Amino acid sequence: DRLSARRKTPGRTDDQLLLMRAAGLLVGQTLEVVAAAVADGVTTLELDRLAEAHIRDHGGRPSFPEVPGYRHTLCTSVNEQIVHGIPGERALRAGDLVSIDCGAIVAGWHGDAAVTVIVGGVEAARPEDLALSRATEDSLYAGIAALRVGERLYAVGEAVEACIEAAAAANGQTYGIVEDYVGHTIGTEMHQDPQIFNYAVRTRGPMVRSGYTGAIEPMITLGSAESDVLADGWTVVTSDGSRAAHWEHTVAVRDEGLWVLTAIDGGAARLAALGAAFAPL
Ligand code: MG
Ligand code: MG
Repeated sequence: DRLSARRKTPGRTDDQLLLMRAAGLLVGQTLEVVAAAVADGVTTLELDRLAEAHIRDHGGRPSFPEVPGYRHTLCTSVNEQIVHGIPGERALRAGDLVSIDCGAIVAGWHGDAAVTVIVGGVEAARPEDLALSRATEDSLYAGIAALRVGERLYAVGEAVEACIEAAAAANGQTYGIVEDYVGHTIGTEMHQDPQIFNYAVRTRGPMVRSGYTGAIEPMITLGSAESDVLADGWTVVTSDGSRAAHWEHTVAVRDEGLWVLTAIDGGAARLAALGAAFAPL
C-alpha cells in the first residue's frame, strides 16, 4: 500500500550495532551452553537457571523478566508447544522436540534468539521431527537472506513461506506456518514495530534502511497452523497436537550485507552457503 511504501524501518548507528552484537553474542553463547546441557531427565527449570547464571556471569541481564508477568530467562516449548512455554519441573525425555528461546540485554541493547533441540540427538529423534527442525532453520536463513537495504521488509515472509513449501514437498509432509506469532524489530526494547511476518502478506511493508535490526523467528508445525494458549496464560500449543519447531536470530542489515548478531560466527557459514553478503563490523 502507498502508506507503507513511504515508510522506512528504523536504523542503528555502527556504535549501536556493536552493542547489539555484544548482546546477541551473549544470547548465542548462552543457547550453546543450554543446548549442550539438554539430556534425558534434565528439567526445563534447570536449563533456565543455567541460562540466567551464564547471562549474569557475562555482563548481561535476562530480558524476558521485563515482559510483564513473566519471570524466567528462557521459554522452553516441548513437542506440541510452539512458543512461550514456561520452564518448570518437567523432565525432558529422549526424542522430545524442544524450542529454547532466550533474550538478554547488554548496555541497554537487546538480543533475542531461539534454537530447537531434540533430546538425545539424531539417534533419539523421530525422522519427521528432525526434518521439521531442519526445514524451520533453513526457512529462518531464507528469510534472513531476503533482507537487504532498499528491499521491502515483508520479503522475509515471502522467502520463509517459499522455503517451507519447498521443504514440505521434498519431505512429503504438510507443514503449518504459525501466523498468530511473528518476528519483530528489536533494539532498546525486545519487541518493536514493525513486525516481521513469516508468510507472504498483501503488502510488502516498509523499506529496509541501513542499520536495521530485526528478529526473524519462523514457527512451523507438522500439522495445523492453528494455536491455543494453555490455562497458564503463556504456553502456546498447536490446536491439533502436532509437534512444532521454532528457530530465531537477531539480524543487522547494513549497506555491505548482513550480520547475524546472535550467531556465534555472525552467520558467516550459512550466509556464504546462500550466496548472501556477510558484513560484520
Ligand atoms: Mg525469542
Ligand atoms: Mg523474538
